[in-house]
Amino acid sequence: MRTNIPGYPRIGSQRELKKACENYWTGKISLERLELTARQLRKQNWQTLQEAGIDLIPSNDFSFYDQVLDMSLALGVIPTRFRELQQTLVTPGCLELYFAMARGYQKNGFDIIALEMTKWFDTNYHYLVPEFEEVQTYALQSRKCLNEFKEARSLGILTKPVLIGPVTYILSGKIKSATLTHNLLLERLLPVYIQLFTELYEAGAEWVQLDEPSLVTDLEPGTKALYNTAYTAINTALPQLKIMLTTYFGGLEDNTSLVTELPVQALHIDLVRAPEQLDTVLAALPETMQLSLGVVDGRNIWKNDFTHSIALLQQAIQAIGTERILLATSCSLLHSPYNLDDETTLHPEIKQWMAFAQQKVGEVVALKQILSGNTTLLQENREVMNSRQTSAGIHIPAVKARMKNITDDDLTRRQPFPARQSLQHALLQLPLFPTTTIGSFPQTVEIRQLRSNLKKGNISPEKYDADIRTAITEAIHWQEALGLDVLVHGEFERNDMVEYFGEQLQGFAFTQHGWVQSYGSRCVKPPIIYGDVQRPQPMTVAWSSYAQSLTTKPVKGMLTGPITILQWSFVRNDQPRMQTAFQLALAIRDEVKDLEDAGIGIIQVDEPALREGLPLRKAPRAAYLEQSVQAFKLAVSPVKDETQIHTHMCYAEFNDIIEHIAAMDADVITIETSRSQMELLEAFAHFRYPNETGPGVYDIHSPRVPGVAEMEKLLHKAAQLLPPRNIWVNPDCGLKTRKWPETEMALRNMVLAAAKVRKEFSVELQPG
Ligand code: GLN
Ligand code: ZN
Repeated sequence: MRTNIPGYPRIGSQRELKKACENYWTGKISLERLELTARQLRKQNWQTLQEAGIDLIPSNDFSFYDQVLDMSLALGVIPTRFRELQQTLVTPGCLELYFAMARGYQKNGFDIIALEMTKWFDTNYHYLVPEFEEVQTYALQSRKCLNEFKEARSLGILTKPVLIGPVTYILSGKIKSATLTHNLLLERLLPVYIQLFTELYEAGAEWVQLDEPSLVTDLEPGTKALYNTAYTAINTALPQLKIMLTTYFGGLEDNTSLVTELPVQALHIDLVRAPEQLDTVLAALPETMQLSLGVVDGRNIWKNDFTHSIALLQQAIQAIGTERILLATSCSLLHSPYNLDDETTLHPEIKQWMAFAQQKVGEVVALKQILSGNTTLLQENREVMNSRQTSAGIHIPAVKARMKNITDDDLTRRQPFPARQSLQHALLQLPLFPTTTIGSFPQTVEIRQLRSNLKKGNISPEKYDADIRTAITEAIHWQEALGLDVLVHGEFERNDMVEYFGEQLQGFAFTQHGWVQSYGSRCVKPPIIYGDVQRPQPMTVAWSSYAQSLTTKPVKGMLTGPITILQWSFVRNDQPRMQTAFQLALAIRDEVKDLEDAGIGIIQVDEPALREGLPLRKAPRAAYLEQSVQAFKLAVSPVKDETQIHTHMCYAEFNDIIEHIAAMDADVITIETSRSQMELLEAFAHFRYPNETGPGVYDIHSPRVPGVAEMEKLLHKAAQLLPPRNIWVNPDCGLKTRKWPETEMALRNMVLAAAKVRKEFSVELQPG
């Protein structure tokens, strides 16, 4: 039985690639230095896998920025706006063009915007969206894949080049010309793919891995046909080259027979996300096809349960023997951090349950050894799994008891929205079109320094508290001076909206080096939820009540919602994710209640990540949304009807989940809309969204200061679509990435725009 790794992280265990790229971009290091770093990282990865004893070692899983962009450059899928730049460059497929497509290009008289970025399936990894145009002619532009194969060969390592398969590649892009279709694109791109395969084969490649995760989604018949066309053409052109068709992030379901009938030599399936597919795949697998079984989770940081994996493997062995089986991780290890051995501060009890990329490779090999009779490894693993099942650090009886006692009453406010609205209006006495912001204010160098000094022990907690209070005081006075109606404390004490809460909750752990690539050189270090979640004490009440004590205007309490915390963490895999979400909701609920008791009359619970947790297949989406809404409602419902609950959403389009947003029954939702010119509001209007809404009137992602007139126009548009009484005025998102001067100018204009529109409407809305 052989072993197979679909991909390995590339940013470097100490984020060497991140640093090298950023230094190259700012001109601090040369291209040669950057390429040297890249070569060293590739060599390290290949040697790690070789030393571990892996048979199918990936190459071309390395990327300076993104593997989908690598594919675009290889095939020559380059938007017209880059053509002129391309002509000034010496080599057509070079790194300068590549980085220009990734990051935009503003020098030497050019001002070209980057490719759009979006999430890779249901991961937190963002890829650069290919743009297809009629005028493009496709040809092999970059031989990165070939070069890296040869580079590994020169080190004595025969690798399996990894590429995005043609159909998933096409589906991941955007068609920009009306005359283009998926079929046409495939027809034009296939010859380039085949040329690349030919060159790889001639250079000695035996296997090529083609990633086709689209096969775990619901496909139209026309799209299914693309697979037949593509893989038949490849096999006809190069019958000697072995193709490993690689699927992950879900099960093949109704695409099973489509896949098993394709002329490929091996199929890789994800048995972590979809263990149930093993039966049907084994039954449908033709005798000529090998099967790579992804049993070790590439998306998480937990140790594999060997007993469970061995059962799956043995089932496969019984059906097709060992010869045709490959043992693998479920997907590329790109989504796992590098090496658990680098962690020196994790509690040993928790650490023993964990595995990062390097340990996962070890697990693949260990499973193979267990199958050939090594019982010690299995026994050791059983002990670790048992300790996790029974640990008092994970299982808190009080939390489990509370979970059992959740009733429908806990999920609902006392009265329906209209009754709450009149109570809130009477109490808050806000004007029409009330103005507010989303929570955070600019995170200056001084503010960051303050937090890092506290962490390092350079300043006392008293000094830290005093300085944060000063920042809050200034922010409150500043907002009053600007004339905002509902104020915020500014979130100066928060590094990150999830980490801040994770650090104060029981059940969370944090790593020192657990970085995973988010996009380009950006990495995130998600918190780890390892056990039952509980809130030992209030988390935000002191800061919020301090802010409220400084003003007679309402100051919003500011919390992160259960689904967003879940979505941006590594979540325990020993209970359903939604159970963890509900535990988080209970912890937030306690905070909501404490804020109310402390006199905070408006509480915002942010759920920007609600949309991104949506399952890839359509069938399970309704249940996900329903449960997510319940988790939110559990978090916000303990309050009196007079207390106004806000939520905030961004980073996505929400048209398709509007009814679920309404079901959350927040009194007010502030939501990103400005980039789409309030398009979203048409959906709100059409649906007759019942509660109050703050459609973002300006985009906070750029330093540009919006003018009064443009925001006024957006507000008019909103007022045409929604009842004016229900409209709030606010930016698209928090302001922490902005600088103070532009923030001040933008908010001043926003307040002016609100005042103008308010004046027009207060005349219209006079009774009688
Ligand atoms: N309250 C948060 C902030 O203003 C919301 C951030 C977000 O939506 N991502 O920073
Ligand atoms: Zn936001």
